[in-house]
Amino acid sequence: MSAAGVVIVGAGQAGLQTAASLREAGFADPITVVGDEEALPYQRPPLSKAYLAGKTDAEGLLLRPASYFAEHRIAHRRARATRIDRDARTLGLDDGAVLAYDHLALATGSRNRALPVPGADLPGVYQLRSLADADRLREAIAAAGRAVVVGAGFIGLEFAAVCAGRGLAVTVIEAAERVMARAVSEETSEAFRVAHEAMGVTFRLQAGVVAIEGHGGRAAAVVLADGESIPADLVLVGVGVVPNQELAERAGLAVRDGIEIDAFLATSDPAISAIGDCARFPTRFAAGMSRGDRVRIESVQNAIDQGRCLAARLTGRPSAYDAVPWFWSDQGRHKLQIAGLAETGDGSVVRGSGDAFSVFRFRDGRLCAVESINRPAEHMAARRILALGRALTPAQAAELAFDLKALATAG
Ligand SMILES: Cc1cc2nc3c(=O)[nH]c(=O)nc-3n(C[C@H](O)[C@H](O)[C@H](O)COP(=O)(O)OP(=O)(O)OC[C@H]3O[C@@H](n4cnc5c(N)ncnc54)[C@H](O)[C@@H]3O)c2cc1C
Repeated sequence: MSAAGVVIVGAGQAGLQTAASLREAGFADPITVVGDEEALPYQRPPLSKAYLAGKTDAEGLLLRPASYFAEHRIAHRRARATRIDRDARTLGLDDGAVLAYDHLALATGSRNRALPVPGADLPGVYQLRSLADADRLREAIAAAGRAVVVGAGFIGLEFAAVCAGRGLAVTVIEAAERVMARAVSEETSEAFRVAHEAMGVTFRLQAGVVAIEGHGGRAAAVVLADGESIPADLVLVGVGVVPNQELAERAGLAVRDGIEIDAFLATSDPAISAIGDCARFPTRFAAGMSRGDRVRIESVQNAIDQGRCLAARLTGRPSAYDAVPWFWSDQGRHKLQIAGLAETGDGSVVRGSGDAFSVFRFRDGRLCAVESINRPAEHMAARRILALGRALTPAQAAELAFDLKALATAG
């Protein structure tokens, strides 16, 4: 490779992992990570958990210490990438600079979907994606008595749990009939609804938000389609994310709910790859899903494993990306861990009961995902069983005497 080296757009989980793994593999050419956030690269999961609750500081979020970059000859440039010239193999930045690349990695992540109702831009209405967002929310929580959360997805529910733990009155509004409906089984939804209610959270399910009302120039209430008005000192909007794919799209790369990549994480231009939240890729773990076997996954696991996979390819060890998807979410005393990919319609059986159980999901008779609530050992076994493609019947999964660990480790 010539001296232009690898340029990475996005100094988040996937981008930084690529840079770090390249250096670990002995890559000697220049590496530049371009990121449009002010902070040094940091982890996002604690933003809705320990950091929001004031249990860790900003230093504790850093993916690498400040000294790491110079020590590993990784240039961290604070700028926004605005243009790719694929013929010239250059990347234009909003500060006027133009960087040459031999290989370009797009790790631009995703951004929060806006709530399309009047009043959504009022002061007192928040999103949660960045450290700056979390800092604003920490201040807002300290001054608030009533929080309204729009969207019962992972981030909304984690936020609700932190607020309830801090003594705020919390209402969560959700359009679907159950919480985390797109991601988990009915059994898991129900357990988390009950757990949140025990923490004092109130739900409005199957409820649509039509407006946010202001008072004195600030958000003061969330108005539902049935006319109910729920008073709020702060409103958190957590209604999903959209991939940051515009840079790729303007460069003529294939995009469709994410930047389209192949099994080796390459885009339609072999000199450009895409990884992490912004990329849509084929995976055997989505086989048989109604939307096809190409997915976009928003998780730390996916960002890290794709960063590693790309670095391996760029250092002469190409292999198709084949990692088992896994994810976690902490909500109050409940730790949810998910291995694999499931969708509504996949069958389920429950193993265990009360506050500690796993839901095994089956598609076309084959195990496709396992949701574990306070069962970390079952989660670890599930990851291996899925990776190895081991056969497991619903009856075996539900039977506590059946040795999952043995299935995961045998032969
Ligand atoms: C509050 C919160 C809690 C989460 N909790 C969990 C969890 O518990 N478990 C889990 O697995 N996952 C969790 N996630 C998801 C996880 O953090 C993401 O999946 C992961 O960060 C994706 O990594 P990434 O590198 O693809 O994107 P990011 O980490 O988002 O990094 C992308 C970076 O690119 C920058 N960028 C975008 N466009 C440009 C451009 N044109 N020029 C320069 N820079 C650009 C962005 O500003 C951003 O800094 C959480 C996310 C959030 C927001």
